[in-house]
Amino acid sequence: MTGTLALVAHDGMKDQMVAWATKNADQLRGLTLFGTGTTGGRLIDEVGLDIVRLKSGPKGGDAQLGAMIAENRLDSLVFFIDPLSALPHDVDVKSLLRLAILYDTRLAVNESSADAVLLSLLGDNA
Ligand code: PGA
Repeated sequence: MTGTLALVAHDGMKDQMVAWATKNADQLRGLTLFGTGTTGGRLIDEVGLDIVRLKSGPKGGDAQLGAMIAENRLDSLVFFIDPLSALPHDVDVKSLLRLAILYDTRLAVNESSADAVLLSLLGDNA
């Protein structure tokens, strides 16, 4: 399978991301995966995925992903945003979402939409 997918989860959502990635590990292994620092580290250690780790989100990782989208180097983004916490790097979160919308990047912000993005990626490669 081809396709580039970035995985990002805020702290309150990281357990959910690990559980979702574990459930979908076989499909994810066929993709080129990127992740922000802490999310990526957990997915490498706990799920055994091969992930290119960027900087931690608050330290520029979200901005790196935005740049990848603007340069057409990222097809899809699964971003588990914490709906219950205020974040110091909210401006970076907004910027990443804005670029994903602008460039029509496949975007998921919760488990149901992440399932849909993965199905869509699988469809591309059927
Ligand atoms: P992290 O970044 O994976 O390094 O925690 C995620 C974020 O907060 O954007």
